[in-house]
Amino acid sequence: MDWNILGHESAIRYFKNQTKAGNTRHAYLIVGPDGVGRRTLALAFAKALNCTQAPQEGDFCDACLTCRQINEQRYPDLSVLEVEEGSKDLKIDQVREMQQTLALSPYQSRFRMVLIPDFQRATIGASNALLKSLEEPPSKALLILTADAKESLLETIASRCEVIRLRPSPIEKLESFLIENRGLEPKLAKKLAHLAAGRVGTAISYSLNPQSLDDYTEALEDLNHLLKCRLRHRLQYIEKNQAKKGNQREKFAFLIATWLSFWRDVMIRHENADIPLVNLEQVDLIEETANLMNSGQIEKILKVHETSLGQLDANLNPRLVIENLLLQLPVIG
Ligand SMILES: [Zn+2]
Repeated sequence: MDWNILGHESAIRYFKNQTKAGNTRHAYLIVGPDGVGRRTLALAFAKALNCTQAPQEGDFCDACLTCRQINEQRYPDLSVLEVEEGSKDLKIDQVREMQQTLALSPYQSRFRMVLIPDFQRATIGASNALLKSLEEPPSKALLILTADAKESLLETIASRCEVIRLRPSPIEKLESFLIENRGLEPKLAKKLAHLAAGRVGTAISYSLNPQSLDDYTEALEDLNHLLKCRLRHRLQYIEKNQAKKGNQREKFAFLIATWLSFWRDVMIRHENADIPLVNLEQVDLIEETANLMNSGQIEKILKVHETSLGQLDANLNPRLVIENLLLQLPVIG
């Protein structure tokens, strides 16, 4: 494994080449789904540019002070600009403040580096403010943006960056990686590789946080139960869920996003598509459901879930959103 990263071979080759003097650009945009390894790759590039004990050009040792500081995101020439806690988007003031530091000379590196993860969350104002740094970058500035897709950014932003696309790794590769490099039991490795749909970061985060895996499993068991019961019981389920602690909107969004993965699996089975299932443990229910519904019905229910997530995001009343969804859920068995 190059750079100790699973997959992404061509992206790593590209970045290794960029570390050579004179090759480095001012701005990169790494795109790919959440959990695919965008930030890990960005930090690895920063290490390859700055490692003080690199075994060879384009590599890094991962042990020197610089490498360790970059891993911990406290290297003085690397700032990470994140969406503030409790906020939904990256604000214009944050970008402006960052631009002031970007204009300063680096302390020890060749570059003043700024990593901005999830730039799709930037407001229009923040995006326009950043454009200035992309159009006339300070000479030693190096910006790395990440985003879920190039299309979710302003065209003027994306076109001024070198775009690097990352894709999930094949399930089997991720499975062996989890066994060999993270010491997971084969059964759990297989389950997580599927659940994460090949995204290494997602799989690792499930393995480090068993509670999130339990919540996920519970959400699917709930769906299993809801599919079998009538409206009155479904509404009781909402009551019960509302009584639980935590943010309503987040709770329901989590449930609906989890159920959406189930319905995608149903569609995959219904169409006999050659795509691995996400929810291996529910394979029986997935097959049963796929046999009972036609593709029009499955498409409709997928759409209902997607719309509901959009409505929660747009601040509609969470209870109404989930009630409406449960009204439209078919009864299976
Ligand atoms: Zn190093």
